[in-house]
Amino acid sequence: MASIQAIRGTRDILPGEIGDWQTIESVARTILGCAAYQEIRTPLFEQTDLFERGIGEATDVVGKEMYTFKDRGDRSLTLRPEGTAGVVRSYVEHGLHAQGGVQRLWYTGAMFRYERPQAGRQRQFHQLGVEVLGSSDVRADAEVIAIANQILQTIGLKNLSLQLNSIGDASDRSNYREALVAYLAPFQDQLDPDSQHRLSHNPLRILDSKDANTQAILDKAPSILEYLSPDSQKRFEQIQALLNDLGIPSTINARLVRGLDYYTHTVFEIQSEDLGAQATVCAGGRYDGLVSQLGGPETPAVGWAMGLERLVILLQQLQAQKLPSVDFYIVSRGEAAEAQALKLAQALRQSGFKTELDLSGSAFGKQFKRADRSGAAACLILGDAEAEAATVQLKWLKSGEQSAIAQTELLSNLDQLRQQLTHATA
Ligand code: ATP
Ligand code: MG
Repeated sequence: MASIQAIRGTRDILPGEIGDWQTIESVARTILGCAAYQEIRTPLFEQTDLFERGIGEATDVVGKEMYTFKDRGDRSLTLRPEGTAGVVRSYVEHGLHAQGGVQRLWYTGAMFRYERPQAGRQRQFHQLGVEVLGSSDVRADAEVIAIANQILQTIGLKNLSLQLNSIGDASDRSNYREALVAYLAPFQDQLDPDSQHRLSHNPLRILDSKDANTQAILDKAPSILEYLSPDSQKRFEQIQALLNDLGIPSTINARLVRGLDYYTHTVFEIQSEDLGAQATVCAGGRYDGLVSQLGGPETPAVGWAMGLERLVILLQQLQAQKLPSVDFYIVSRGEAAEAQALKLAQALRQSGFKTELDLSGSAFGKQFKRADRSGAAACLILGDAEAEAATVQLKWLKSGEQSAIAQTELLSNLDQLRQQLTHATA
C-alpha cells in the first residue's frame, strides 16, 4: 500500500531539530516574562467573519490565502492565518479592557495560509507575537520593538536590520492615498496586474509590489512622510529618538506600509541578510482602529509577529558555522598503532590541540563513524602500515582530503597545522 505523507506546505519537526524550537520559545518566554507580558492561547479556528473584518478583505491573506471551510453545522470557519484577530476577539469577548490599564499579551502557535511553499514559507507555519492593548504612548511602540530586538539578539542572530516607517493617522493616509493614486493613474497600464487592481481597491499596497517595473515607477512617487500632520510627524521623530536612546539602530523605509485603515503611525519590519527572498523575520506596528473594528471600545494597540520557521533556519546556519568542538579525532587499530596513537594524542594535546583518542579498539568503520559524529576538523588514522612506517593518515573531514605524513613531520610543523585547521573550519 502507498504510504501517506504530510500535506504539502506542512512539516514535521523531528527530535533532531526540536532543540532550536525550544531555544527560541524559552528565550522568548523568559524575556516576555521579565517584561510582564502574559501568555494567551486562543483557538486554531474562528468564524471566517473575524478575519474578514480583522485583517481586511483587500489583503492577500483574506483574498487568497485562507483555509476556509464549512463545518457540519454549515458554519463558515477559518483556520487562523495570524494571531492578532483572535487575541483581540478574546480581549473584547472577555472584557479584558474592563480591567483597565494596559494589557501586555503574547502568544505562539501554528498559523495557516494557502501560499506557494518554499524555504521559509509554508502553509502551516508558526508565529510568536505580542500585543500591547490600551496604550497610545509612543513608548509602547519602542518597548515592543526593543523586546523583539532583545529576543533576536539573545538567540544569537546577526545581520539583522530594523526598518521603520510611519503611516500617520487616518486623515494623513487618506490625503496620501489621493496623491499616490493621482501620481500612479497615468502609469496604470504599465503597472503589474496586481497593482492595477490595487489602484482602485487598496492603493497603498502597491508600494509593496515586488515587480521591478512597478518599483521603478514608484521611485518618483510622493512619499507618505511628506503627508504626515505635525502631530504624526512629531510622533515619528519621538519613536526614532527613543530607539536611538535604547541603542537600537533603525533605517527609515518610506515604502513600508500596511494597507488597512485600522493601522496607524508606527510600522516596522526586522529583516535578515541571511535568508534570501523570505527575509522578514518580524513585522508589526500600531493598530489603533482594530479593537473598535471588532466591536470593542476604542483601544489603542501595538504589536508584532515573528515567523519561527525563519528563525530556526537562521539558527541552523549559525550552528553550521560554529567551530568544531574537537580539532583531531584519532583512530587506530593494532597494538603498535594504538601505542603510537596514544603518544601522538599526548603530543598534540600538549601543543594545545583539542584531541580525542578513540579507545574502543573496534573496527575502523565504527571508529570513523564516531570521528564524523565528534565534529572534529580532522581525523588521524593509524593502522599496521602507518605504525610500521611511523606515518599517519591525515584526513580533513569537511573536504574529505586525505594524505600520509610522517609523524615527526606532523609534530614539527604545528604552525602550519594550526593554519590548516583555521582554514578547514572557516
Ligand atoms: P511575507 O511578505 O513574507 O508574506 P507577511 O507580510 O505575509 O510576510 P505577516 O503577516 O506580517 O507576514 O507575518 C509576520 C511574520 O510571519 C512574517 O514576517 C514571517 O516571518 C512569518 N510568516 C508569514 N507568512 C509565513 C509563511 N507562509 N510561512 C512561514 N512564515 C511566515
Ligand atoms: Mg504573506
